[in-house]
Parts: sequence; structure tokens; C-alpha cells
Amino acid sequence: MNGAQPIFILPEGTLRTTGRDAQSQNIAAAKAVADQVRTTLGPKGMDKMLVDSIGDVTITNDGATILKEMEIEHPAAKMIVEVAKTQEDEVGDGTTTAVVLTGELLKKSELLLDQDIHPTMIVRGYRLAKAKALEVVMKISDDINIDDTEMLEKIAMTAMTGKSSEAAREPLAKLAVQAVKAVTEVRNGKPVIDKSDVKIEKKQGGSIDDTELIKGIVIDKEIVHSNMPKHIKNAKIALLDAALEVKETETSAEIRITDPHQLQAFIEQESRMLKDMVKKVVDSGCNVVFCQKGIDDLAQHYLAKAGIAAARRVKKSDIEKLAKATGANIVSSIDELTKEDIGNAGLVEELKIAGEEMIFVRDCKDPKAVSILVRGGTEHVVDEAQRAMDDAVLGIISAVEMGKFVAGGGAVEIEIARKLREYAETVGGREQLAINCFAEAIEIIPRTLAESTGKDAIDLLVNLRTLHEKGKTTFGIDVMNGELADMKALGVIEPLKIKTQAIKSASEAAEMILRIDDVIKSRAPSGPPPGMPGGMGGMEDYGE
Ligand code: ADP
Ligand code: MG
Repeated sequence: MNGAQPIFILPEGTLRTTGRDAQSQNIAAAKAVADQVRTTLGPKGMDKMLVDSIGDVTITNDGATILKEMEIEHPAAKMIVEVAKTQEDEVGDGTTTAVVLTGELLKKSELLLDQDIHPTMIVRGYRLAKAKALEVVMKISDDINIDDTEMLEKIAMTAMTGKSSEAAREPLAKLAVQAVKAVTEVRNGKPVIDKSDVKIEKKQGGSIDDTELIKGIVIDKEIVHSNMPKHIKNAKIALLDAALEVKETETSAEIRITDPHQLQAFIEQESRMLKDMVKKVVDSGCNVVFCQKGIDDLAQHYLAKAGIAAARRVKKSDIEKLAKATGANIVSSIDELTKEDIGNAGLVEELKIAGEEMIFVRDCKDPKAVSILVRGGTEHVVDEAQRAMDDAVLGIISAVEMGKFVAGGGAVEIEIARKLREYAETVGGREQLAINCFAEAIEIIPRTLAESTGKDAIDLLVNLRTLHEKGKTTFGIDVMNGELADMKALGVIEPLKIKTQAIKSASEAAEMILRIDDVIKSRAPSGPPPGMPGGMGGMEDYGE
């Protein structure tokens, strides 16, 4: 190596950070993200107002939404955003918890790095702690099933905590439970729920109290012809994945018309074909048609004459939900439509909601898909109410699917911390230090809740630990009253999955960030950005 020239393997301008610097920068970025959402945690969590580059405003308390809107750029910070996304996708709730926990795990690991403990040691300790934590929550969780209406309503209410729709929590929770119950199927003794079977639709206007559960589907469409009925009792429903139109000539065959009679004949033929199509629809015995494709004006006219209501260009997903709700079969060729394909609903009606027509397919018997129409006075209220409803529905689903719930308000986290400290002693060595750090990190949840009460947080925590030592494992922080209480008795309960998923994704993200000791950042590519004239991206828009 003597006198050798340094060898450059990376292009000029590449930014590189290594070793402890890389770690500190990544950890700082991750902590910054966690700090952003920490104050929104819990029932006294504050909301954030986010204004995007075109001036649109979102007001929310939802961790995942905040991070989505923040357009975060730092690569390590982005990994934290991923944690929130995973939590959102897997459970739908607990995003703030997961993000705050990731930040705290990293923050505590810095103390160890400062003592020259190698990152791989910390990672190993964190892994042991994670496994133990999962074992502990599993052990202290309680059973729940789809028939525990009251408990499920409490879970729904806890999930909605802190969102601005708080005042209407109770009725909303009831709707959420009824909705999930309707779509739950039991297969091989296990509850199976497809969350897309609960359609949460929102419409600005009215108030949150007008939020309604429809035993069927609400569709953001209108009845296509003014002479069609708008209110159909005992609806017999046909679902078509075929156009009620005469097909445009598909090949380029030309139709030459040489005299006016031919034109007349051609028009007559077309109208006869449409009439035949409509006749087949009428023969099926239906009085409502939902068509995924178009409906010709003339066909509309014939349908109206036959007293049939119809909607066209209904979304595929809505057609599928209609099939589940009404028991109709989706038919892709009008020739094949039979009486057996027809579904039922007690009532189909078109209503004007906040100035726009919507079609309600209601009172289905044993519907396997239902809708919740969320209302709220302003755009921001209805948006946040929809997020609250989403959290509630997903919370119930996670609880029922896993069949387990735990006490909230920091009760679970304090208990995990306590057990981890006991466990750390049995492990010893450097891992012990890391496990203790994990224990301290997970206490960030009760600590943050305690701080939000405005009372002495340290006092609350110390007393809470003592209660847990005495076996009162369901005690946590009653944030609203600023005191300690039995969370189960208070009804602050959450699905187990919120906690297990948060622990898993937070520790995995922390481990991943800890293992990085080299950040290599390419310089921005030179030349015109894609899409600009001369760039490759713009090319395909031109020419044939
Ligand atoms: P996340 O995005 O993590 O769900 P939230 O703002 O919904 O964040 O806060 C969830 C935390 O607040 C959980 O730890 C939950 O147990 C706690 N919590 C909810 N309601 C109450 C309450 N009434 N009293 C105490 N803690 C509560
Ligand atoms: Mg929540």
C-alpha cells in the first residue's frame, strides 16, 4: 500500500457518511420523525394541521396520515414512515404507538453506542427482548369473539379516541360492530372477515350523528333516466358486466348506405336489438339493473317503460359488493341472464345527499357486504370521522380475527417492561443492557400518556409500576382523569394485534437502522429531468 494512490470506486460527487456519524445521523432523523407524532398519542393527543404544496389542508390525529402528508425525504426517516404504513396495512391502528416506539428504541440504543457497545450486540439484545415482549403480551391477553358485542364496542371506542369525532364515539362504535358482525363468516370454526366487505363511504353535509349503517351498499351514482322509478320496494336486482348497447362494429368493416331506406332499416335494426336485450332483462324478473358498462339512451328508454330502474358504469368493486349484499350473480352476457341470477333488497332508492344523488340498496337479507355512510358538517370533520370509522372497523376485525385483546392506557407496556427487566437479569452480559433499554423504551407509551394528563408524569409512572408489582396488571393511566385506573374496567381495551404488530415492526426497523454504518448517496443525475423535452420520459408522448 505504500505510496499507493487512493482508489476511487464511486463517482465524483457521491456523498458518503460512515461509522458512528452515519449511525447518529440516521438515529437523529428517526427520532425527529417520532417526535413529530408523539404529541398526538392518546385521548388527549393534539391534532396536526398539514398544508400541502397546493394549499390543501388536512387536520388529523392519525399517525399514518401525518407521516404520509409530510413528504419525508431522509432515507432513515423514510424507514420510520414505512413502520407506520405497515402498521396501518396490517392492523389499521396503533401507528403512532409503532412510530414512537421505534424512535425511542433508537434513542435508548444511543446510550449503549456511546458506551462502545457494538451495534450487533444491541441488535441481539433487542431481538431477545422482542421475542420476550411478544410472549408476555400473548400471556396477559384475554379472549374475545364476535359475540362479545359490548367488549367489541369498547375496542371500537378506544380506537376512535383522540379523533375529533370523539363526541359521537358511542353510536359510531355500535355501527362499526354491527357492520363487522354482518360480514363475519365462520369457516372451520374460525372467523373470517374481509375488511373490504365493510364499505366506508363519506359524504360531506349533515352531522356526524347522521352517520348511518346500510344493510346493503351505497353507490355514488344516479339512476340513469328521469322516467325510471327512484324508490323500489322489494327490489329484484340484476348485476350486469355487459353493456346494454349495440356493439360498435369492432373490425373496420364499413357500412355503406346508399339510399335513405337503408339508413332507416339500419336504425330499426339497431333499435330492435336493443329492444331484444331489454326484453331479456325484463324476462329475468328484475326491477333494478346495475350495469358495469354503458346503457344506450334507447335501452334506457325501454327500461324506463318497463318500470325498471338502472344505473350504468358502476364500479367493478361496487358490483362485487352488490353481489355479496344481495345474493345476485354477476352476469357477463345478457343472453345468459336468468331468474336464478337475480338478487334481493328490501328497498332500492335514490336520495339526494348534500346535493348529489346516491343510490341506496338497503335492507338486504343477511348481506355479506354492508356500507357505512359517514357524514360530517365540513370536509375536515367528515374526513377525520371516516378515518376514525376506519380505525374502529379495523380494530374490531383485528380483535375478532386474533380472538384476543389487551388493556390499553399503557397497562400492557408497563407490564412488558417489568417482565423484560426480570428477564434481562437471567440473560446477563451486554445483551442485558440492551434488554433493559428495550424495557425503558417501551415505557415511552405510558410516559407519553402520563405527560398528556398535565399531572406529574413521574409520580404516575412510579405508582403504576408499584401497582403492577402487586399483580394489578390491567392498571394503566386514565388520561381523562389524570389518575391510575383499571383499564379493563374503564373499557380502554385494544386488540392484541395492535401491540404485537407495533412491537415487531418497531424493533425490526430499529434493528435495521442500527446495523447501518455506511450511507452512500449518489449525486443527483445530471441532464434534463425526465418528462422534459429532450429527456427520455417525454419521448413516448410524441409520434405514433
Ligand atoms: P395510535 O396511532 O398508536 O393508535 P392513539 O392516538 O390512538 O395512537 O393512542 C393510542 C393510545 O392511547 C393507546 O395506548 C391507548 O391504550 C391509549 N388510550 C386510548 N384511550 C384511552 C383512555 N381513555 N385512557 C387512557 N389511554 C387511552
Ligand atoms: Mg389509535
